[in-house]
Amino acid sequence: MSKKRIGKALGEMFKTAMEEPVTVKYPFGAVIVAERFRGKLDVDPIRCTGCGVCEIVCPAGVITMVPVGKRSIGQREIEVKKPVFDLYTCISCGQCVEDCRFGALALTNKFELAVFDKGSLIMKKALKVVQ
Ligand code: SF4
Ligand code: SF4
Repeated sequence: MSKKRIGKALGEMFKTAMEEPVTVKYPFGAVIVAERFRGKLDVDPIRCTGCGVCEIVCPAGVITMVPVGKRSIGQREIEVKKPVFDLYTCISCGQCVEDCRFGALALTNKFELAVFDKGSLIMKKALKVVQ
């Protein structure tokens, strides 16, 4: 390597040594995600009516409507269902959020989804509230 190139490389080295790091000390530093970041899906059990639209529109088969009880409408008795989300297959496309007309779904800024037990990514919180 020529002296000129060594001098240039050293100059570059000193310059970058004085700059702020561009990486973060994960997991010890706060990670700031982009404004429209699509992270872990969340459901509001109170807003969720169990209409089932999210199950139909999800392209990844994340959502399964499960029976949670019965409701009487006049003489008729209908089965009430609520969604269970297998979040380990969720691709965060946002389709369910867009199509839920009750505003029960949202993509949060949570991104730490690596787990040893994938069962911990099965979200059943919508089952807790049956209207
Ligand atoms: S989350 Fe929304 S679309 Fe899905 S069942 Fe509940 S109300 Fe319907
Ligand atoms: S964000 Fe997309 S992949 Fe995830 S549950 Fe909703 S529709 Fe399915």
